[in-house]
Amino acid sequence: MTIDQFKFAGKKAIVRVDFNVPLDENGKITDDTRIRGALPTLKKILADGGALIIMSHMGKPKGKVNPKLSLGQIQNAVADALGTTVKFAPDCAKAQDAAAALKPGDVLLLENLRFYPEEEGKPVGIDKEDPAYDEAKKAMKASQKEFAKTLASYADCYVMDAFGTAHRKHASTAVIADYFDTEHKMLGYLMEKEVKAVDNVLSNIKRPFVAIMGGSKVSSKIGIIENLLGKVDKLILCGGMTYTFAKAHGGEIGNSIVELDKLDVALGVEELAKKNGVELVLGTDSVVADAFSNDANTKVVPSNAIPEGWEGLDAGPDTRKKFQAAIKGAKTILWNGPAGVFEFDNFTAGSRAIGEAVAEATSEGAFSLIGGGDSVACVNKFGLADQVSYISTGGGALLEAIEGKVLPGVAAILGEK
Ligand code: AMP
Repeated sequence: MTIDQFKFAGKKAIVRVDFNVPLDENGKITDDTRIRGALPTLKKILADGGALIIMSHMGKPKGKVNPKLSLGQIQNAVADALGTTVKFAPDCAKAQDAAAALKPGDVLLLENLRFYPEEEGKPVGIDKEDPAYDEAKKAMKASQKEFAKTLASYADCYVMDAFGTAHRKHASTAVIADYFDTEHKMLGYLMEKEVKAVDNVLSNIKRPFVAIMGGSKVSSKIGIIENLLGKVDKLILCGGMTYTFAKAHGGEIGNSIVELDKLDVALGVEELAKKNGVELVLGTDSVVADAFSNDANTKVVPSNAIPEGWEGLDAGPDTRKKFQAAIKGAKTILWNGPAGVFEFDNFTAGSRAIGEAVAEATSEGAFSLIGGGDSVACVNKFGLADQVSYISTGGGALLEAIEGKVLPGVAAILGEK
């Protein structure tokens, strides 16, 4: 079934969205990209005369109630975005009555799904090494099914629109789909759009294909980095992982972020790039700081000669030029992860240089795909959002899809392709 074909009039739709939005210390939303991303689906269902049950996770409460991660904090923001009142169910697994009372046009927001360990389906409080772990896991999988069944019981149909968590086989992203027949489950507009954007990149690669991978660590991105080395013409590696590469070559990196147990991984990446004929582009100089703070003293030094007491927090001017030159002329671009600690205004230059080069290449005909909360926050911060081709709401999900994996949240609706 597709969202355009389904007749929502008089029906209750349970919609899995990704409302895992960043909040400040007062519980105020600092970036509402994800809420805006879900609006086309939610508004369509209401406009058709359906009732909405909206469910999401927020943060990592690890199966426990945590008021700081309550979706109650965003109830009003969701109401404002939808232009209608939104009711709140403070216990997502006990919302039967609230769901039953919904009339066409009504909206019910469920509390954070991850307040229940069943959502993720991982046993809590037991170590993987424990002999009782397998038994606990089995029991948890059974209660995960029950939890998914309860959620399913609230509604007539299920809409999966949470691309950000589509790479997880959770109760609300995949297991719940077992309780609806194919005529009563569908992808939402955001999912449709995201899946199409990935297809666009993978099936229609125009070269040169340049990928930019940044962020803090090489370990969390090694899978996609290795995979991309089989697809791209150039790979720019930036951000914190720069220093693991510098260290692997015996460089002095001061207090910069480093993964000492991943030095061989870094060398392996370089070898694979060489073998595959991919141009690997790494920074040569860094803006270093004498503290991890926006107000720290700074200077520019080679990335492999950082003095003790200093740490690399951004790409230096030569590196920025090098990155911009590598992006120029690209026809397909994938960007995930910032080139520095962009959260500090004084360390945004590297990410800004990349953003501007991506925007320029896009204006010259490249298809540019930006994914991952931080890179998206960057393009928003620099006012470049409307100058790139596609901004994905997914980080991990986008990268897994680019790797060519079928996402569980997609498979749950469309089947394994
Ligand atoms: P990730 O979650 O791995 O994509 O990493 C994103 C984070 O990497 C952001 O919060 C950045 O502040 C951080 N980051 C980028 N460059 C550096 C750096 N040179 N040192 C420390 N953290 C960094």
